[in-house]
Amino acid sequence: MSTATLRIDLQALAANWQALDTLGSCETAAVVKADGYGLGSAQVATALAKAGARKFFVAVAEEGVAVRNALGPDPKVFVFSGHMAGDTDLLQQAGLTPLINSTQQLQRHLQALPGHDFGLQLDTGMNRLGLEPSDWQDLRQQALAHDPVLVISHLACADTPNHAMNATQLACFRDMTDDLQIPRSLSATGGILLGPEYHFDLTRPGIGLYGGAPYSVAHPVVSLSLPVIQIRDVMEGESVGYGNTWSAKRPSRIATVSAGYADGLIRAMGPHLSLFDGATACPIVGRISMDLITVDVTELTQVPDALSMLNTHQTIERLAEAAGTIGYEILTSLGARYNRVYMSS
Ligand SMILES: *Cc1c(COP(=O)(O)O)cnc(C)c1O
Repeated sequence: MSTATLRIDLQALAANWQALDTLGSCETAAVVKADGYGLGSAQVATALAKAGARKFFVAVAEEGVAVRNALGPDPKVFVFSGHMAGDTDLLQQAGLTPLINSTQQLQRHLQALPGHDFGLQLDTGMNRLGLEPSDWQDLRQQALAHDPVLVISHLACADTPNHAMNATQLACFRDMTDDLQIPRSLSATGGILLGPEYHFDLTRPGIGLYGGAPYSVAHPVVSLSLPVIQIRDVMEGESVGYGNTWSAKRPSRIATVSAGYADGLIRAMGPHLSLFDGATACPIVGRISMDLITVDVTELTQVPDALSMLNTHQTIERLAEAAGTIGYEILTSLGARYNRVYMSS
């Protein structure tokens, strides 16, 4: 089989949730949007529920249905995008809790699903999603009369601890909510690390669970192993791959492995990365193609059946740096073609 194998360590995932839960002075939820940051929301949510998570967050109602099917009726599943036209049946059937973002969404919700749980999302300065302070002024009385179960906001700069925006948003959130009797949530992974005054009643980590920055002490959750399909020897001066971008400066041994940019291994990262045999780095040479990557394995005495792209030597953050992006984008770009293997020990 030449399909590459993405290993997902559910025990490391659970350990990351537990560590973030211990850091917090409150309840810890889990964000499993975008199919559990690309790792499989059903498996990820099930493992986190086993670890103790009772509240889950997704971006859109359809994702919530998948999480509900995996978890059964008890855990709360919140939907960041709120109650959109066309969501009503999904919200009702799957028992999802929309986080209301606008006046229109509140009216839609109260009309379409009277008595059905909802929460509120406030915009405290990010200007992306949620009720602005002036909307909140107008709606508060009506919204509070229907017993929202949670009020949240989101920090724009939490991964930069000294950024003045953090304190500004904290003050705004407190201004808008200090007199409420409703559970409050402000922080994702970055906000948890800012300290207890950012925690309120519930934190919402995502990336930290999956081993990404800014939670630098996370256990690595994913590893990626690419089968070697062919090995060849090239002479000094011979080129490898599209565009002849690399030529051998010495007689070299080249391994061709099975995966490429169609699997989320972004073409731009090629010149900056290696594949690993244990701790030995074998540089990628030539262009990353759609389904294949060529690697200089001259230094290996024996070429193994597979080489490793993601491991303790070369992490998600290292791939992100090589591609000029962030770990979130690397994770959520991991392609559908991998053979996903879930390990729980
Ligand atoms: C994605 C998201 C989170 C989780 O953020 P991380 O940085 O991955 O921990 C929490 N809250 C909201 C509103 C989000 O969009």
